[in-house]
Amino acid sequence: MASQANESSPQHIGFGQVAPPSSSGINIIVVGCGFAGLACAIESTRKGHSVIILEKHKRVEPIGDVRISMVVTFNINVGRFFMRWGLHEKLWPLCGHASEFKIHNYAGEVLQVQPFPQALYGSHAYNGHRGEIYEILVDYAKSLGIEIRHDHPVSDYWEDEHAGKAGVIVRGARLEADVVVGADGLRSVARKLVLGFDDKPKPSGYAIYRTWFNAQAAGIDKDPLTAFLAGDDVLYGWIGQDMHFLASNCQQGTKVSCVLTHKDDANIDESWSFPGKTEDVLKVVEGWDPRCSAILSKAPAFVDWKIVYRDPLPTWISKGGRLALIGDAAHPFLPTSVQGASQAVEDGVTLAVVLQLAGKMSVPLAVRAWEKIRYQRVRYAQLLGESTRDKWHRATPADRGGAVDLPRPEWLLDFDAEQHAYAEYGAIAEGLQREGYHLPSLP
Ligand SMILES: Cc1cc2nc3c(=O)[nH]c(=O)nc-3n(C[C@H](O)[C@H](O)[C@H](O)COP(=O)(O)OP(=O)(O)OC[C@H]3O[C@@H](n4cnc5c(N)ncnc54)[C@H](O)[C@@H]3O)c2cc1C
Repeated sequence: MASQANESSPQHIGFGQVAPPSSSGINIIVVGCGFAGLACAIESTRKGHSVIILEKHKRVEPIGDVRISMVVTFNINVGRFFMRWGLHEKLWPLCGHASEFKIHNYAGEVLQVQPFPQALYGSHAYNGHRGEIYEILVDYAKSLGIEIRHDHPVSDYWEDEHAGKAGVIVRGARLEADVVVGADGLRSVARKLVLGFDDKPKPSGYAIYRTWFNAQAAGIDKDPLTAFLAGDDVLYGWIGQDMHFLASNCQQGTKVSCVLTHKDDANIDESWSFPGKTEDVLKVVEGWDPRCSAILSKAPAFVDWKIVYRDPLPTWISKGGRLALIGDAAHPFLPTSVQGASQAVEDGVTLAVVLQLAGKMSVPLAVRAWEKIRYQRVRYAQLLGESTRDKWHRATPADRGGAVDLPRPEWLLDFDAEQHAYAEYGAIAEGLQREGYHLPSLP
């Protein structure tokens, strides 16, 4: 049956290849222009699907806006896509290139110097300012002809199995497509259609003070305690009871990023991002290595970012197989996984490939296969974030060396989601059909 799916596809392009525009005949509505939605739209366009992105915000948020003035890491497992998309030359100079991760205890004693290559397995990690990376991806999406409709808040989703269509409602207007991708983030509206109930995110019990600032303007280079951040790229971490602090720099020692994770039991019903007060931030690192407060006291502003989490969803796809949740809408990550943005990109790339392999007549089969391909890998990556947080926050004085490493397992990083989807789709689609899944009859 998988061959039936392949035969119905007008395109037989393979791994790393780009299909002629709109050649698959598959129309996709992507809801949300975050990294998940963008990556899905980009790779879908490259695989010959026609895509529009609906985004509730009125415009691309300017660099410096509180929402995006923070660091984001695209790990080695997905850097390969940015390279394939021809974006390396633009992204690399903006990113941090620390070659080791120096991990201290709260008092400043070095526990481990972990080798931390930013280029590995034929790929690169891109670790930089969220807004700068985002703008490069948006420009690339536009250069591919992807239409991003801003000021398009989706209020509802629908699916009609008989008609073989799904769609959304925007301000009363009904839009339809062969498949709808709910890339609408933590407070996903799409999740309601998939689960049949509203599943609210929960507080994780932690929050992060984040900041990103100009090193020279803040006097980082003038203070002997902080001058190490004004030179070559470095990545330093301090770990302690229920907390950790990461400081790094990039762009020739001109930009500094700080991430301070700490216990927090605030209610996140309405909002989970607030301005942070310097005095509160400094209280958190009282009694720690003086370098921590020296760095943090120079930051002009903080975002106090409540980390929300949720138990794994039983499924990421709708009953009819025409709506898929990707990125944070499906699976929020703890920052200690360093995989939230990366798994969102893998989701999108994988979905684009399986839709191309299945063809327009077999969209629900592709979507079901996509979930099977992605689910377990994402879960393992999520769990890695939990175990890293626990080992850092509960480290004993004896824990040092490899015991405090940030895990970088081969199964996670030496992985090409596009190649994997091409390799796995046929067998998984066949398996689904053996288990009793049949393609819906055509309208
Ligand atoms: C501010 C911020 C900082 C982060 N920092 C890091 C980091 O340092 N490292 C890391 O790995 N991960 C980080 N993450 C998480 C990581 O960026 C996400 O896991 C990843 O980018 C997946 O994002 P997403 O596209 O699924 O969701 P989001 O980035 O939240 O994007 C969802 C998009 O959907 C839009 N949207 C929502 N509802 C609707 C609707 N009804 N109609 C239309 N549009 C809608 C939103 O406006 C938004 O643009 C951060 C996330 C945020 C938001």
